[in-house]
Amino acid sequence: MSQIKRILVAGGAGFLGSRICENLVEQGHDVICVDNFFTSQKSNVTHLLSRPNFEIIRHDIIHPVWLEVDEIYNMACPAAPGHYQYNPIKTMKTSVMGSINLLGMAKRCGARYLFASTSEIYGDPEIHPQPETYRGSVNTLGPRACYDEGKRAAETLCMDYYRSNKVPVRIVRIFNTYGPRMHPYDGRVISNFIRQAFTGEPITIYGDGSQTRSFCYRDDLVDAIIKMMNSDQVGPINIGNPGEYTIKQLAEIIVEMTGSKSKIVYTDLPADDPKKRQPDITLARKHLQWEPTTQLRDGLKQTIEWFRGIELSHYRPPTP
Ligand code: NAD
Ligand code: UDP
Repeated sequence: MSQIKRILVAGGAGFLGSRICENLVEQGHDVICVDNFFTSQKSNVTHLLSRPNFEIIRHDIIHPVWLEVDEIYNMACPAAPGHYQYNPIKTMKTSVMGSINLLGMAKRCGARYLFASTSEIYGDPEIHPQPETYRGSVNTLGPRACYDEGKRAAETLCMDYYRSNKVPVRIVRIFNTYGPRMHPYDGRVISNFIRQAFTGEPITIYGDGSQTRSFCYRDDLVDAIIKMMNSDQVGPINIGNPGEYTIKQLAEIIVEMTGSKSKIVYTDLPADDPKKRQPDITLARKHLQWEPTTQLRDGLKQTIEWFRGIELSHYRPPTP
């Protein structure tokens, strides 16, 4: 195996972070998971505690933390609209102050730093699909701005630490991702639809369901993120699955796959909801030799199985 590194995963107990921790522990690295458990369950990572190369620290990244590490994955930020709008000022602080703290650590340690940016930095896009050169169309004043603008500012910080302090940064722009360990009450479309299908609640389509998203399975995504860290690319590089579906199509597929009796209902579209989204992954293909391999129905099968096995009452809405 290649050289063993000490790796910090901030937000390491979350949906994506916990899968990154599992992969890195499996590769034999020394992994430190830092998380304040705002949107995650400890149970996402407690199974790793029996491994000698894994530890957890409860910490909020808006405050400095002093560790000696070789690599930092910064995945810490509430990601679902319902979660990041719960305390929008805290969301902005997490992206901006959290990035300053972890980039400062990377500078001091000479560590590589990967930042989990988002397709949301493109806002409601006028260009389709979205390449990395597109500068976006974000409403700076709207309810999504705490997330979108926080991530945009964090990308700026990455580039300034890279140019001014030679910190080796890696920026990935993640498009909608789903899979086992999604928070069942995060309000995201796939978790809502599967939960509603199981409980018999109505399936809630916001607007007329003609808006589109492109859904990437968790394991494809995590594979690309680890490849990006190990590459020589600064980025930004889009990571996502170009397979694009309307929300109405998604609802019909989930109803069919779960055999649910839930009715589909139509409710108001939230403010600033992007009308379409699809990644252009030319750069990921070229520089990371990566493309997703999991078809939507295969990934949904895994996700539905996972939802079938969990106890919904063990999950609560997040607390600050
Ligand atoms: P998640 O909510 O499951 O994970 C985020 C983790 O960060 C949680 O464990 C949470 O408790 C932790 N966290 C939040 N604020 C923190 C703070 N101030 N200090 C320490 N820990 C904190 O979400 P996820 O889907 O796993 O997303 C992980 C990252 O990927 C996020 O940065 C998100 O913006 C980005 N991303 C995710 C998606 C997606 O579709 N899942 C899309 C684009 C970008
Ligand atoms: N959506 C929906 N019903 C739901 C949850 C979401 O129709 O119960 C829609 C939402 O309006 C958006 C799309 O599904 O158009 C994806 O929403 P999600 O919150 O998963 O991700 P994001 O909008 O951040 O891409």
